[in-house]
Amino acid sequence: MKQRFFFFLFIIFSLGLKAEFINIGVYHGKNIKSFEFSIRAGQYSLFSEKGKLLELAGGTKVTVTHASNGIKLQKDGQNIGSFQRLNFVGTGWYNHFLVKPSGGLTAHRYDDNLKVMAQHSGLQLINNIDLDNYVAGVVEAEVGRKPPVEYFKLQAIICRTYALSNTHKHLLEGFNLCDQVHCQAYHGKTFHTPIVEAALQTRGAVIVDSEIGLITAAFHSSCGGQTVNSEDVWSKSLYYLRSVEDTFCINRKNAYWEKTIPKQQWHGFIAKKVKREHLDSISLPFSPLIREKDYFGSKTGLSLEDLRNHFKLRSTFFEVREHGDSVLLCGRGYGHGVGLCQIGAMEMAKRGYTYAQILHYYYQGVHIIDLSALDFFKSD
Ligand SMILES: [Zn+2]
Ligand SMILES: [Zn+2]
Repeated sequence: MKQRFFFFLFIIFSLGLKAEFINIGVYHGKNIKSFEFSIRAGQYSLFSEKGKLLELAGGTKVTVTHASNGIKLQKDGQNIGSFQRLNFVGTGWYNHFLVKPSGGLTAHRYDDNLKVMAQHSGLQLINNIDLDNYVAGVVEAEVGRKPPVEYFKLQAIICRTYALSNTHKHLLEGFNLCDQVHCQAYHGKTFHTPIVEAALQTRGAVIVDSEIGLITAAFHSSCGGQTVNSEDVWSKSLYYLRSVEDTFCINRKNAYWEKTIPKQQWHGFIAKKVKREHLDSISLPFSPLIREKDYFGSKTGLSLEDLRNHFKLRSTFFEVREHGDSVLLCGRGYGHGVGLCQIGAMEMAKRGYTYAQILHYYYQGVHIIDLSALDFFKSD
């Protein structure tokens, strides 16, 4: 079976890789009234619903404004016309542009193409972009420029896997994903060469499960020494999202936290959630040695995740002690704890582990394959 699998991969690679494009709703929810489009590299053809309008050379600027009858387009102060849709298509070898919105919003640069649609009260901008250019932008928005190069590679693979398994999220609005944390943070093009190279060097790589389906590539800031089973946070149990011990994030950033909560608030919430006959089994201190799912065992029916959500705790990995009129919580880690621990993964990358070794450590029993192989198995 394995031999057949690699034979298929060989055939697919010898057919060559095709560029994959994705539609990202940018400035999502910002209700853009007007913006300036200027070409920073390459050249563009501009289309409307009526057909081709203009050829735009490098350096050209046009102004796009929301109007009662659609979209008003101006170039060099001259009115070009009113339209329902505009499509800026890059025709050079390497194309990128700047969007400068009115109303004090930050200007962003984007790679590849831009679609503009008229909506009831503003404009929806859609960046039609090569998947790997998008992935590079997301990696910078999600983790900044500080991590080591090997870490950028694994974050690129995670962001690519997430993007492709969530292409349906905004289909009704006319695009695949938005640029907010609701999908993945994306502020446009990155100019940080190590990130661009990491996206290119992992071009097309995605993570799949044993059924060759894209995985839920969950990650969080720090696990505090042990990651969490997926079903302890979300109800779904996924075989590759298992609790693993992690010594790499201990004593690093976000490893420990403390919080003091008035006793009345703490016990009041617990009394509301736990059946009276089980309240006796709750007697402080609460000091779990390893990750637990529930507060004082499953019979209380109170999950640590409920406590984390209600009291806005950094993690579900904590002990509780009485402290005068308060309870003192001493916790470890930051985030839901499922899947890849970012701080641990960065430490592994610094110590010389490869991105594949790191991914296999946090997502057990998965495979890293090329996107074109995924298409092949889907159509099989
Ligand atoms: Zn979204
Ligand atoms: Zn960790």
